Amino acid sequence: MERVYNFSAGPSTLPLEVLQKAQADLVCYGNSGMSIMEMSHRSADFEAVRAGAEDAIRRLLNVPDNYKVLFMHGGATAQFAAIPLNLMNGSGKADYVLSGVFSKKASVEAKKYGDVAIAASSAGANFAFVPATTRESFRPDADYVHICFNNTIFGTRFPYIPDTGDIPLVADMSSCIASEPIDVSKFGVIYAGAQKNFGIAGVGIVIIREDLIGNAREATPAILNYQLMAENDSMYNTPPCWAMYMTKLVCDWLIEKGGLEAAKQRNEEKAALLYDYLDHQDFYIAPVDQASRSIMNVVFRTEDPELDKLFVSEAAKAGLKSLKGHKAVGGIRASIYNAMPREGVEKLVAFMKQFAADHQSK
Ligand SMILES: *Cc1c(COP(=O)(O)O)cnc(C)c1O
Repeated sequence: MERVYNFSAGPSTLPLEVLQKAQADLVCYGNSGMSIMEMSHRSADFEAVRAGAEDAIRRLLNVPDNYKVLFMHGGATAQFAAIPLNLMNGSGKADYVLSGVFSKKASVEAKKYGDVAIAASSAGANFAFVPATTRESFRPDADYVHICFNNTIFGTRFPYIPDTGDIPLVADMSSCIASEPIDVSKFGVIYAGAQKNFGIAGVGIVIIREDLIGNAREATPAILNYQLMAENDSMYNTPPCWAMYMTKLVCDWLIEKGGLEAAKQRNEEKAALLYDYLDHQDFYIAPVDQASRSIMNVVFRTEDPELDKLFVSEAAKAGLKSLKGHKAVGGIRASIYNAMPREGVEKLVAFMKQFAADHQSK
């Protein structure tokens, strides 16, 4: 069977070259005579994989030396708990910007551990934009400010990095990590589940400034404790070995393709193909405010939910899969992460034009 263009929001499409490399390594990794899935995580071969993955992340994202790179279990959702457990250790207050489903989930989890305030929200507009903030939006004694940088479900992205003064800024970058260059030094913590832009499900990547490590609450589970993870090179227990290896391959692929400047250019061009078309027609509705548009998740719909369903099923028959919007938004969503080739987006736009022509007058 031929591979399709897979627009799934996550887990999502991987570069074909990465899958082929993984396939070549699957049964015997290097000269080890065994698969990565079968070898001790304490072996020299696997330690080289772990160190290689960390090194590739550091190079790709230009991570400053005073930050740790951790590989953790439980995806982004585990970090919704790890962040308050490790960082809510001064005033016990944390401020969250509400910009979608995942920032809501993160704030609800944090409320179990302390005083959570919503500093800004676009809930009233069904999250069609990212709310503006100023330094005054945040409580001066908050232990941290949390944002979700790219809102996977609503197709929005922070058009700015909030100014939080001295308060550490924590960002969920699950659906945009490594899609463009980012100034890591502006953040206290960046975290991401890997299965969108950075590999496969099973590993969460945490990039954390060193001074934020070491003050976890007494009750913090060991598996969520940044200090234990950092002291043990993310191998406090058996890590998600294969998922870490896949992240390394994805990073290697991105580096080979010119790094994040080049990735940004490819991603902006792909997104522009869709948004330019959406802005010059009247069949589809693009609900997101222009200034907040995501270049990773492009959300649109027709006037009629039945027509949206037909769009999704007809597109799938044409080899353009997983375009159904999230139930919180409905309609259609095209996730066009790093691994989505330009050709896939071109085919999607051509399909959209044809579908509009076929159904315009109805
Ligand atoms: C998918 C996603 C999550 C949830 O990730 P898991 O790894 O499934 O826990 C959290 N935040 C954002 C922005 C996401 O896109």
